[in-house]
Amino acid sequence: DSFDAMGLETNLLRGIYAYGFEKPSAIQQQGIVPFCKGLDVIQQAQSGTGKTAVFCSGVLQQLDYNVVECQALVLAPNRELAQQINKVMRALGDYLGVKVHACVDGISIREDQRILSSGVHVVVGTLGRVSNMLRRKTLSSDYIRMFVLDEADEMLLKEFKKIHDILQLIPPEVQCQALVLAPTCELAQQIEMVMQALGDYVSV
Ligand code: AMP
Repeated sequence: DSFDAMGLETNLLRGIYAYGFEKPSAIQQQGIVPFCKGLDVIQQAQSGTGKTAVFCSGVLQQLDYNVVECQALVLAPNRELAQQINKVMRALGDYLGVKVHACVDGISIREDQRILSSGVHVVVGTLGRVSNMLRRKTLSSDYIRMFVLDEADEMLLKEFKKIHDILQLIPPEVQCQALVLAPTCELAQQIEMVMQALGDYVSV
C-alpha cells in the first residue's frame, strides 16, 4: 500500500511526494493501477477521499510528453472544481513538464484559443466551454485518448445531453474514468450507458 508499488514514473512519484502525499488513500489504492493499465474505470468516492489524485495520477502516468497535443480531457460540473483539478494536475505533474489548461466558462474565448493553440497535454474544463472549443476545433480531439468525468453523477443528472454531445466529438475508443459521489440506481444506469458506449469497463 504505497505509491512506490504502483509502477508509476519516477517523476510522477516525485510530484506526488513533493505535493505532500505519503501514502495512497483507499480510493487511490483501488483506482490508480487499473486506470494506468488502460481500463475504463468507474469509482464511487465521497469528497475529501482523495479522488482528484486518482485520475490525475492515471492521466499523468499515461501521457506521451513528446506529443504536445490534448491527450486527456477531464470534465467537471463547475468552474471552481475544474480550476482546483487544474492546480492538482499541474502540481503532481510538475516534474514531468505537463501542460494543463483549465478550459472553463467565464474566461475570455480569445485567451482559451491562444493557450490551446500554443499546445497542451491535458484540458480540464466545464461542459459548455469544452464543447464550444471542440466544435470550433480550437481544441483538437485527434489525440484525445483519456476521458475523465469528475462528479459524473452530478453532470449526468443535469447535463446528460451535453456529455453525450461531447462524446460524439471525441474518438470513440477513448479510455474513460468516471468518479461518482452518490449514485442512485437511475444514475448508475446512465453512467453505465456512457461507459458501455466506450466499451468494457471495471467498477472498483
Ligand atoms: P479530494 O477528495 O481529491 O478533493 O482530496 C481531499 C483532500 O485530501 C485534499 O486536500 C488532498 O490534498 C488530500 N489528499 C488526497 N490524497 C491524499 C494522500 N494520499 N495523502 C494525504 N492527503 C491527501
